[in-house]
Amino acid sequence: MKKKIIVVFFIIALCCSIIFLKDRSTFKENTNHSFGNTNVLLITIDTLRSDHIGAYGYNRNITPTIDKLAKEGIRFKHAIAQAPYTAPSHASILTSTYPFVHNTRNMFFQDSSGKKIEGVNYPLTHTNLTLAEILKEEGYDTSAFVSGWTLTAKFSGLHQGFDVYEDNFDGEERKADKTNVLVKQWLEKNYRKKFFLWIHYFDPHFPYSPPESIKIDSSFSEVKFDIDLMPLKKNPYLRDVINSHEDIAKQVHLYDMEIKFVDQQIGKLLDVIKEYNIIDNTLIILTADHGESLTEHKEYFDHGTYLYDVCLKIPLIIKFPNNQWQGKVVDSMVQSIDIVPTLLDFLNIPLRREFQGVSLMPMVLNKETANAPYAYSESDAVLSKRFGERLRTYRVKDWKLIYASDGVLAESELYNTTEDPYETKNLIDENKEIAERLKEKLLLTIKNHPEKKIEGTNLPDEETKEKLKSLGYL
Ligand SMILES: [Zn+2]
Repeated sequence: MKKKIIVVFFIIALCCSIIFLKDRSTFKENTNHSFGNTNVLLITIDTLRSDHIGAYGYNRNITPTIDKLAKEGIRFKHAIAQAPYTAPSHASILTSTYPFVHNTRNMFFQDSSGKKIEGVNYPLTHTNLTLAEILKEEGYDTSAFVSGWTLTAKFSGLHQGFDVYEDNFDGEERKADKTNVLVKQWLEKNYRKKFFLWIHYFDPHFPYSPPESIKIDSSFSEVKFDIDLMPLKKNPYLRDVINSHEDIAKQVHLYDMEIKFVDQQIGKLLDVIKEYNIIDNTLIILTADHGESLTEHKEYFDHGTYLYDVCLKIPLIIKFPNNQWQGKVVDSMVQSIDIVPTLLDFLNIPLRREFQGVSLMPMVLNKETANAPYAYSESDAVLSKRFGERLRTYRVKDWKLIYASDGVLAESELYNTTEDPYETKNLIDENKEIAERLKEKLLLTIKNHPEKKIEGTNLPDEETKEKLKSLGYL
């Protein structure tokens, strides 16, 4: 009897492995394969510019966890954020639409007399469709843990579609270790379910205050920052911390140590996922909402106003179940809005008409893509009160236009990002035809996707205004 059971068990096991192997091999031919119980883990790290990550070429060893994830997954070398600001960029990630479509951004409104007035961040409306809503329909448990005040449900509206949206903390931010405590508690109860889990870490955002436990490396003082200190002394957030060029180097160092801390915490989180034995059926996406200007282009330890690549180039790493396609590097330009179509394509869930991004699975599978890569981004320049309208950028492989429609308060700029990745030489006067071609494409992109209408003005209440003022947003 015992022998019979063993034989039957053996036959079942053999059949299962044959079916599994067959499925795996057909997937290579056809992206329409579904791993039915694949979990989705989306990790977004606030304010993390890609060139401060080892896997993206940074020479300080501060991101061993992210670097390992890049080796086990696919690294997209040129990933572009849709906005250099937290809520609009995350809304683009989660809806696969540009900010001018989802409208989770700073808005202008008209008062009763028809005068144009400035509002603050407009939360996501229900006319948008989010990744959480789509995956919930597909039977996923959906949970989010956010760590920055501008992603709270009240401010961003990004809780749409989540069963759990953990945004309850005091002050502007919650440190990664504190967020992890809650995530671990959640995992303990829910790891057996099929889940979509979004974790947002805020640590690299200014002010840079890494915990004492992070080792201080003295090599930072060798970095030279030969810039005018005067604007920093006028800046209310920086005048108390920067009095010398060495202080600038120190701030960059502290920014790095925040990255190191968040990297350590992600490592601890992935250890928990491994302990529950669910790492091989979890699709992991690691990205950022935007980068940070560390004094470049006269933007000092900040982001949100300008559209230079220090604020737009972000990491994008996708680790597929069982490390499939591990170590691959995709050179083509991709955008934040491509994340949702890519993971749905992998999961064999139909893409939606609303999406403006495309699936990157053809790139993963070395297949031709229909369109030449391009990217669009826009800023919340209205925050600075320096410009009448937004700045926008449209870019193709080598060229990037920063378009200022106003033309008076700000002028358009053109860069060759292949030859000049840090955008030091504005080439618009020498290349007017290229600039004009990119401008036409930019305007066509906007025309083809009209803004969603917003009902009412929904201007912030006094409490929200006060909070925004205290955080320096108004
Ligand atoms: Zn952010």
